[in-house]
Amino acid sequence: MTSAVRPALSVVAPCYNEQEVLPEFVRRVGAVLDGIGGTGEIVLVDDGSADGTWAVMAKSAADDPRVVAVRLMRNHGHQLALTAGLSVCRGARVLIIDADLQDPPELLPEMMALMDQGADVVYGQRRQRNGESLFKRASAAAFYRLIGRLTDVAIPTDAGDFRLVNRRVLDLLLAMPERHRFLRGMIAWIGGNQVPLVYDRQARAAGQSKYPLAKMVRFAVDAITAFSVVPLMASMTIGWVMAAVGFGFFVYSIVGWALGATLPGWTSLMAAVGLLGGMQFLMLGIIGAYLGRLYDQSKGRPLFMISEIVGGPQ
Ligand code: UDP
Ligand code: MG
Repeated sequence: MTSAVRPALSVVAPCYNEQEVLPEFVRRVGAVLDGIGGTGEIVLVDDGSADGTWAVMAKSAADDPRVVAVRLMRNHGHQLALTAGLSVCRGARVLIIDADLQDPPELLPEMMALMDQGADVVYGQRRQRNGESLFKRASAAAFYRLIGRLTDVAIPTDAGDFRLVNRRVLDLLLAMPERHRFLRGMIAWIGGNQVPLVYDRQARAAGQSKYPLAKMVRFAVDAITAFSVVPLMASMTIGWVMAAVGFGFFVYSIVGWALGATLPGWTSLMAAVGLLGGMQFLMLGIIGAYLGRLYDQSKGRPLFMISEIVGGPQ
């Protein structure tokens, strides 16, 4: 990885158990690069796959000199695998794309043209999502709207990580040391001239989604905690409301006592204790979510660990 020659373009794809789709992915991306001309590389990152992904990747690297196969020590998750690929790639422009062909690589020429006109980032914005469940679409829509409300950074709605970025933006991104990475938010935060390109998201070419519900929720919590302290402040708002309600109860009980109509009190007591207990645990959980991330960050461990690289200039 010491070559001084920068390819004009790098295509970076994180891959986790994608053996079925990879050959077709490399073929389609290769064809697009042929069409564009100029120098290009395809950086594939094996995110600790349990299937034959690495073997397929290493073979692609042997067959096609443009392919660089990067193998991580273990599964790091989508965002960190992508970060590993981005730090290895050398292109003057970089296309971030999923390996499952949900985002068509054939849009690249159009993205390049927008960048020729001065865009720093061209991001794919989904008009339609084919072959994804109603639940996935509804949860994604809710997520993009929620994050939009909670943060000051204008994170584009309905845009995944599929985007073309220039070297300036990429270097700024790589200089950000945070460990719980929400890359599309971080790129939006960098600013510059960011331009959308509307497209229809396709169904997966093969294989299953690697984002089960639990991972989606973790990803959403990472995104929100990385870009907003509103949840942390929520305890303040709720505290005010609870204090007002508590004061109401106080007045009510005093008046009741003065009128000699004291209630047995059990129900209201239990209701108040229950409500307060619940709120307190919720707020502790929110504080814990931020504190845990602060702790993780303070350890300063490497974001990813590469075990080997095959292909590319040596
Ligand atoms: N991926 C990864 N590591 C993981 C999970 C996913 O590198 O732990 C990759 C996966 O191979 C794919 C991309 O991230 O190229 C997006 O994942 P997927 O298509 O499963 O997510 P979805 O499109 O269903 O949201
Ligand atoms: Mg996918």
